[in-house]
Amino acid sequence: MNKKSHSDRYSRQVLFQPIGAEGQRRLMNSRAVIIGCGALGSAQAESLARAGVGRLRIVDRDFVELSNLQRQTMFTESDAGDRLPKAIAATQHLRAMNSEIEIEPQIADANHSNIERLIDDGDVVMDGTDNFATRYLINDACVKHRINWVYGAAVGSYGVTMTIRPGLTACLRCIFPEPPPAASAPTCDTAGVIMPIINVVAAVQVAEALKLLTANEDDLHNCLMQFDVWRNEWRQISVGSPASDCSTCRRREFTTLDAGGQDFAAVLCGRHAVQVSPSQPTQINLTSLGARLAASGEVKINDYLLRFRTGEFEMTIFQDARSIIRGTDDVATARSLYARFVGN
Ligand SMILES: [Zn+2]
Repeated sequence: MNKKSHSDRYSRQVLFQPIGAEGQRRLMNSRAVIIGCGALGSAQAESLARAGVGRLRIVDRDFVELSNLQRQTMFTESDAGDRLPKAIAATQHLRAMNSEIEIEPQIADANHSNIERLIDDGDVVMDGTDNFATRYLINDACVKHRINWVYGAAVGSYGVTMTIRPGLTACLRCIFPEPPPAASAPTCDTAGVIMPIINVVAAVQVAEALKLLTANEDDLHNCLMQFDVWRNEWRQISVGSPASDCSTCRRREFTTLDAGGQDFAAVLCGRHAVQVSPSQPTQINLTSLGARLAASGEVKINDYLLRFRTGEFEMTIFQDARSIIRGTDDVATARSLYARFVGN
C-alpha cells in the first residue's frame, strides 16, 4: 500500500489526540497475542486488526460450530460447514479486513508446555478464553515474563475485566487467590450468554490494550470492572499494587507452568465433550490416520483436522494429536476411545 492509502486507513484514529501519529506508529510495531478466539477473542481480534496493531497471534484449540455464530462475530456459516479451526478461519477474515498487518494462527490448546513460547514476545496478551484454568496459566506466564495482559470474561448478561501490569498492579491471583472449584461457576454453555455483554467487555479490553501499546498508561482504569447489561449494573472496584502475600507476584511461584500438575484430559463443560491431549508434543499425519480409521467408522478430513464418527461418539483430531471427543462427559471413556483410535 502506498503512503496515502495507509494514512487514509488510520486517519480517524490518528486524529484522536491521545493516539496521534506517534501512537499509530507504536501500534504498527506491536504484537498482541489473543488466547482463545471465541466471542471475546473475535471482537478483540477484529478491533486490534482494524486499529493497525502490526502483529496478531491468534491461539485457539477449537473448530467453528453453528452454535458459535450468535456471538462469535468473526465466523460465518461456511466456516461452520467446513469445520475450520477458529484460528484459521479468523486469520482468513482478518487478512481480508487488513492486509497490511501480520497474522499468525496457532491451532493449539494453551497449556503449560507452550504458553511461555506463545506469549513471551508479545507486547500485550488478551484473554479470550472461557475457563479459569487457562486464565491462571496466562497470569503465571505473564507475571513470570513481565508482559501486560487484559483479563476478561462474560456469561449470561454479566461481564468482568481487569488489566494486569506485572509488578505494578495486582495480578489475577492477588484478587482471587484460588480459581473457583470446577463446575461451581456458571459458564456460557450452562447459563448462556448474550452478545451485548461480549461487546462491552471486549471494548473495554481493547481500549486498555490501545492505551498500553501507545504509552498512555496514565489513562488505564486500574479497576476490576463489572457490568451487567440486563440488570443495568456497572461497578468498578479499585485494584492497587500487588498483594503482599501473593504467591505469584511476591514469591514468584508459577504453579500452573509446572508440568506435574497438569491433566491429560479435560471435560469441556456443558458441551458433552472431553479434550484429550497427547502426553508428549507431537505432529501426526492426518491422511494416514484417516486411512487406518476408515474401517472403524465414518472419516472426514480437511487441511487441519480429521473428524471420525464411531457409534454415538464423534472424535475431532488435530495435527498436534489433540482430540475433542463429543458424546461423553466421562474422562475415562474419552481416554479409552483415544487410546483405541489414536493411540498414546
Ligand atoms: Zn499477584
